[in-house]
Amino acid sequence: MLGVLWRGKEPLAVLWGAVKIVCRNYGSWSHNLDFDVVVVGGGHAGIEAAAAASRVGSRVVLITQKLSTIGEMSCNPSFGGIGKGHLMREIDALDGLCAKICDKSAIQFRVLNRSKGPAVWGIRAQIDRDMYKKNMQDVVSSTPGLEMMEDSVEDIMLQPSSSCQRVAGVHLASGKSLKCKAVVITTGTFLNGKIYIGLESFPAGRRGDAPSIALASVLDDAGFLLRRLKTGTPPRIDERTVDFRYLERQFGDKPPIPFSFLNLKDGFQVHFVFALLLGAWTCTTGFPIVCFACVSVCPIFPPHKTHTC
Ligand SMILES: Cc1cc2nc3c(=O)[nH]c(=O)nc-3n(C[C@H](O)[C@H](O)[C@H](O)COP(=O)(O)OP(=O)(O)OC[C@H]3O[C@@H](n4cnc5c(N)ncnc54)[C@H](O)[C@@H]3O)c2cc1C
Repeated sequence: MLGVLWRGKEPLAVLWGAVKIVCRNYGSWSHNLDFDVVVVGGGHAGIEAAAAASRVGSRVVLITQKLSTIGEMSCNPSFGGIGKGHLMREIDALDGLCAKICDKSAIQFRVLNRSKGPAVWGIRAQIDRDMYKKNMQDVVSSTPGLEMMEDSVEDIMLQPSSSCQRVAGVHLASGKSLKCKAVVITTGTFLNGKIYIGLESFPAGRRGDAPSIALASVLDDAGFLLRRLKTGTPPRIDERTVDFRYLERQFGDKPPIPFSFLNLKDGFQVHFVFALLLGAWTCTTGFPIVCFACVSVCPIFPPHKTHTC
């Protein structure tokens, strides 16, 4: 290698060139690049996918364009609400990370739709975005069996199997290739992403981030139907232009109801265990049963320590 580099250059320049080559390839030389699962994207979905795969003992690598944006909240500084709050709790029931990190990083908790029945209540929390990102990055980087890599997945390796093509690995923008048994794609708004501002439009994953174009065309060539969903950011209002005397103050709940079941007090935990047992009963017998007393009593009177069905 040094011979190729030499070609009449100064010894220091040669040494510097060799150091650069070693640094560039250190990752591939020092790592075994075979994984069970490759997760593409370090947004909310990618984090949960990578953590879940590592919890069941898989060797996982989370590849994302910028390690510093792992756990980034793209838009609103809030989590949950009607529908999404339920989804977060379902993920929490599978030992997911989002609810627990929200509880650690929240500024205000408030249950929406309280005027209606408990089945349609939506837990929502205002979050400190920087704290959320930091707490999430701390957890992800210390998850056993989960490696993180800053790169962009540009292509998927396929190999013929008996009746179809199987995933065999991924090719990265840096030139590296990784072998794996499964690829999870969680590219969010980045896949062939576009930003529209007024009449202007330009390719972007999110403001300040590059879109994922190469991977989109690979998926297109593989026969997947690609469509873009719209997400919108409401206009920001300059607080100096608002007369707060005419607005109603919305305080957080006291006591706050956290997202994660692990952080709930006794009455709620009892309710959750019942819900799990009823779910297990439904799955094993095929006959759904609903305990109406349990559904209504526990959430309405949280201090209840026990409940008899
Ligand atoms: C301006 C804006 C406003 C939004 N407002 C809301 C809102 O109010 N409510 C709401 O629920 N949602 C909103 N969204 C949508 C929001 O993006 C999603 O709800 C959420 O972030 C999706 O999470 P995700 O994990 O699927 O993807 P994302 O959070 O988008 O993360 C995708 C990740 O994949 C990485 N990536 C992409 N391509 C590659 C590649 N080829 N190789 C490696 N890494 C790659 C990216 O770097 C990124 O880290 C908004 C989005 C934007 C941009």
